[in-house]
Amino acid sequence: MPMSKDRRRKKYAEDPDHRQKRLACNADYWERHKEEINKARREKRKTDPKYRKKVRASNYKSRLKNRYGLSPDDKKAMRKRQRGRCRICREKKRKLCVDHKGKIVRGLLCDPCNLGLGHFRDDPKRMRRAIAYVKASSPPSRRKRKKARRKR
Ligand SMILES: [Zn+2]
Repeated sequence: MPMSKDRRRKKYAEDPDHRQKRLACNADYWERHKEEINKARREKRKTDPKYRKKVRASNYKSRLKNRYGLSPDDKKAMRKRQRGRCRICREKKRKLCVDHKGKIVRGLLCDPCNLGLGHFRDDPKRMRRAIAYVKASSPPSRRKRKKARRKR
């Protein structure tokens, strides 16, 4: 009689020789059949919307985990703390990117703000110069103009 799923799992977890054999056997099977397996998976992704959705969700989940060490719930909680808004421009966005420096997650940003930081190479000195540059080359705001008129 074949082993039950639970017994097989128990043996796999507890018996290192058995585990080694299973891993070697699986690797061998994969090596011999990977092309047909990949072809079948590609075909299924193309034709089965439910499967495609499942694969995308799984890829998203592992990308979050591997890149930032976050679970989808962690990201949801961050989004809730930020009230669905970008930390820089404060606009409410449907899609927010995880802003990170190396492995440290700083917050969620909209695409333009995230790209902006990247273009400024995350360098506060460049950003301050950019602010000064933009201020110097912009016409004064209405409030400032009114103030200036009052002084005269
Ligand atoms: Zn933004």
